[in-house]
Amino acid sequence: MAKLQPVRGTKDIWGEDALRFNHVVDVFRSVAERYSFEPISTPIFEFTEVFSRTLGEASDVVSKEMYCFEDRGGEGLTLRPEYTAGIARSYMSEGMQQFGMKKFYAYGPMFRYERPQKGRYRQFHQLDAEILGAPEPAADIEIIALAHQVLKELGMVENTVLHLNSLGDQESRQAYRDALVEYFTGHKDKLSEDSLARLEKNPLRILDSKDEGDRALLPDAPKLSYYLNETSQAFFDAVKQGLDAMDITYIHDENLVRGLDYYCHTAFEFITTDLGSQGTVIGGGRYDGLMEQMGGPQTAGIGWAGGIERLAMLLKEAPKPPRPVVFVPMGDAATNKAMQLLNMLRSNGVVADMGFRGNMKKRMKRAADANARFVAILGDNELLKGVVSLKDMDSGDQQEVSFADLLARVQA
Ligand code: ATP
Ligand code: MG
Repeated sequence: MAKLQPVRGTKDIWGEDALRFNHVVDVFRSVAERYSFEPISTPIFEFTEVFSRTLGEASDVVSKEMYCFEDRGGEGLTLRPEYTAGIARSYMSEGMQQFGMKKFYAYGPMFRYERPQKGRYRQFHQLDAEILGAPEPAADIEIIALAHQVLKELGMVENTVLHLNSLGDQESRQAYRDALVEYFTGHKDKLSEDSLARLEKNPLRILDSKDEGDRALLPDAPKLSYYLNETSQAFFDAVKQGLDAMDITYIHDENLVRGLDYYCHTAFEFITTDLGSQGTVIGGGRYDGLMEQMGGPQTAGIGWAGGIERLAMLLKEAPKPPRPVVFVPMGDAATNKAMQLLNMLRSNGVVADMGFRGNMKKRMKRAADANARFVAILGDNELLKGVVSLKDMDSGDQQEVSFADLLARVQA
């Protein structure tokens, strides 16, 4: 017997949730197009190495969260846990280097084996934006401005704070890493088990720890900004100046390191106080080493991803579905005419529907429940006269309107 439930951590999106979800995607698409980003869509599964090599074997995503499987041909595949690696893979496999810079936007499902809770699912959806082939700080500014504008048009920019940090270039990161290892090694006895493992594999991630004991060590830990070399500092300054010029406010968050191995220079997150510990709605950063790590030529990149479910939850009001014109025909001849008029309205961009079940009263009630703007009643009488009895559901007025005038009347 099949279990008649969705799999743990997955959910059906319908009703108001679906309206919220679509609104987030619609706003994102509209803003991304205005910012001259191009659409892209990559497969939901990739060869496992696309993710394992790039995200870092020690990252949470690779070590515990990926859905990996072998297909019938014995290929090792993984359901994508994030978009960046797949888009970077695509940039290389499609030979897009010839175009230099590419600005892409995408959205779709992601899969991570996580502990389900509010705002955290095993299949969830992301908005994603990437600029590939651009090493300039202007790209960092552009990608953050895009995220900011999306939040603004979703009406949530006031409730989110932009946390910004610079991880510096490789040289700066290495120097900082050494300093961190020295510091935390001196406090080994107070570190959580997870952070002891991080100390060897990626000590920067200790800064990201949610363990209280680990967090107590952070105020005295060495600060990343102190280790930025001149190039890295200049890069960070350019990004901050660009944001200032656009009036995008941020806080410099020295503990923001992001979970994945491939980041350098700019790292950022938009965090809301409205969702508890699932408060990060958009996160991203620069990944200049990523494509080289995948076996391609050195290519700069920067991007972000935002959780659609989290953004949808934060929308203050659910978007309202458009109000239809509902036909209520009685009798076969009237039904045929109603179908013709229904088609005509729909072809002209009017939202329209038809009630075809039950008696007149039931049909009228269904129309009211559907929040109809107008109900067009069509019986034998109306048919003979070539009119519908059009009821305005707001005022309650009812008038005969000829078939020829119907479109103009409901559009007015
Ligand atoms: P978190 O710290 O919440 O685990 P993350 O750093 O793993 O987030 P990213 O990999 O940066 O998240 O993904 C970008 C965005 O995708 C997050 O900011 C969040 O909005 C969303 N997201 C990540 N994981 C989930 C999930 N399991 N369920 C729903 N949304 C998610
Ligand atoms: Mg996570």
